[in-house]
Amino acid sequence: MNYDVVVIGAGPGGSMAAKTCAEMGLNVLLVEKRQEIGAPVRCAEGIGKKDLERFVEIDRRFISAEVVGAKIYAPDGTEITLTEEMAGNEVGYVLERKIFDRHLARLAAKAGADVIVKTSAVGMVRENGRVRVRLRKMGEEFEVECRIVIGADGVESRVGKWAGIDTTLKLDEIESCVQYLMTGIDFDPNYCHFWFGREIAPGGYVWLFPKGNSSANVGIGVMPSLAKRSPKEYLDEFVERRYGDGRIVEVVAGAVPVKGEIETAVADNVMLVGDAARHADPITGGGIANAMKAGYYAGKVAAEAIERGDCSAKFLRRYDELWKNDFGKDLAKKRKLQQKLVKMDDETLSKLMRTLKECKPEEISVRAMIKVLIKKHPKLLWDLKDLIV
Ligand code: FAD
Repeated sequence: MNYDVVVIGAGPGGSMAAKTCAEMGLNVLLVEKRQEIGAPVRCAEGIGKKDLERFVEIDRRFISAEVVGAKIYAPDGTEITLTEEMAGNEVGYVLERKIFDRHLARLAAKAGADVIVKTSAVGMVRENGRVRVRLRKMGEEFEVECRIVIGADGVESRVGKWAGIDTTLKLDEIESCVQYLMTGIDFDPNYCHFWFGREIAPGGYVWLFPKGNSSANVGIGVMPSLAKRSPKEYLDEFVERRYGDGRIVEVVAGAVPVKGEIETAVADNVMLVGDAARHADPITGGGIANAMKAGYYAGKVAAEAIERGDCSAKFLRRYDELWKNDFGKDLAKKRKLQQKLVKMDDETLSKLMRTLKECKPEEISVRAMIKVLIKKHPKLLWDLKDLIV
């Protein structure tokens, strides 16, 4: 029970980390508390094509649907169409995560990682440059020893707390989500659909992601600090109004961290990846792509650290540099934008969307929007100054 690296959590972040460690020749254990990797799914399953193709060969078995862009609906019904490139990190493929997550874990195992399921990490102790991780499998506790722990244990991460890394989430740093897998509903399957507005989803949005065969993931994220009711009540109201004839065949609930860039995701002998490190996009809530990128970087740095015999926080900060250079700045920028957007009333939001509608889909950007505003709606530019500056 002696490993170079123990990875806790077999989501996309953990499996990528374990796969990378194993490919770098490390002796690695991937631990998953659920009995089935990938189930139950707590995700709308959308991901950008480039992000996915960067890390895996596409296999149709884990792709439910492909879309060409996003349709966004303002509170007043204004509809704008975004190309896939403009639509953020959730739009391109809609995955079948039950199959995808398992596929990634299998790739890790194929590369040489040991994988155990139905086993929870319940504690860890760092001593003399090593870590003893306490695991519980079907009521029985045992320990494994390693040089590095990679915490990929999702939004409710305990590894971060055990290691003393500050990942605390306030009520305005979380999206509380509920989602139905619905069938028998009518929608344009070439697009992911997003509805915004304080009345519909305070501090968040409603989504519909096509899953093929008239089925779709229809869900909502709301910010608990702004919502007056539970996310389910908001979603039920929306579904009743738009898709009252559809059937709900699956329900999931979960949370997404929208905290933005944290200061550090490392401590002595420990790195955090994915939702555990609050790597999800603060605007879209999309976290699969960043979790995979972070897992890959953490695996690389683990191999370097073990080769040098230095698993201190000081050395592991190389991992911080890698993920921050890749997407950290984007998280920080999106968090600022999100804080401005959530304060916007429905009328201003609708005005903004009407302005965006005047830009060509492939040209939608802050610069293009300002051009339209200066030319046609100078007063609105003043109303929106908080968002733009
Ligand atoms: P997770 O996928 O959460 O994996 C963590 C794993 O760790 C789990 O398997 C868990 O069982 C395991 N674990 C936890 N604790 C322990 C322990 N103590 N011991 C052992 N194992 C443990 N993102 C997108 O990109 N696109 C979307 O469309 C999208 N939709 C979403 C919809 C909803 C409703 C929600 C809640 C989230 C959505 N997200 C979406 C976010 C996305 O699901 C996450 O960002 C992503 O799964 C993060 O991957 P991860 O590997 O960090 O963590």
